[in-house]
Amino acid sequence: MKRVFIAFLSFMLLLSNFSCFSERGSVVIFSNLVGKNAFPLKGYKIGIDPGHQEKGNSELEVVMPGSNERKAKVASGTRGISTGIPEYKTVLEISLKLRDLLTELGAEVLMTRETHDVDISNMERALMMNEWGADLVLRMHLNGSTDSSVHGMGMYIRASGDLVDKNTALAEALLKHMSQATGAKKAGVFKRDTYTGLNWSEVPSVLVEMGYMTNPEEDEKLHSAEYQEKLVIGAVNGILEYLNVKTN
Ligand SMILES: [Zn+2]
Repeated sequence: MKRVFIAFLSFMLLLSNFSCFSERGSVVIFSNLVGKNAFPLKGYKIGIDPGHQEKGNSELEVVMPGSNERKAKVASGTRGISTGIPEYKTVLEISLKLRDLLTELGAEVLMTRETHDVDISNMERALMMNEWGADLVLRMHLNGSTDSSVHGMGMYIRASGDLVDKNTALAEALLKHMSQATGAKKAGVFKRDTYTGLNWSEVPSVLVEMGYMTNPEEDEKLHSAEYQEKLVIGAVNGILEYLNVKTN
């Protein structure tokens, strides 16, 4: 318990200025997380797929089991309109912070990638999580639009299959807590059978579009340690709610 609390403090201090943190009220969220149950996620296997990679792969793969339709193995992703930073870098940066906090809370975490120089298709990423038996998977992405005024956070899940109810519950919990923690606009929960990485998933899986890199203001926020912490805290709170885990 003490060890975990120290870990939390170091996590907060590492990522942000403590007093600044308190002013924003995030400490309350953290103390809720600590509670009496120091390892609320013990026994859970949580998958994180940081979207994209250093170089996209335009070779094709089947978009879903039983389909003839094919899509590129991995798209190259978007890029910050203000910062110039590519999506694959930012999503890994945030995913590593999420991994660390989930691990502190007792979860077993599997990442599809921990470096940029990989070549793993969207189908392979889903199969990796199926084989591992993840309780849930977060596919971490950042959005792009030709309209720079578009901003906000959206969750994408499959429209069909056996997991619609679970996926919907997970997506709604993530959207609620991540938007609450960050103040980001809620774009909504979108159901589509067009994402290879979701279509091949046999475990609850949500594609988390955390914000728009093509909106200058949101791009800047997404690259601040302070905002990234809020995203991570929101995601963890969403996971706790979805799993109905008591933290005290
Ligand atoms: Zn993406």
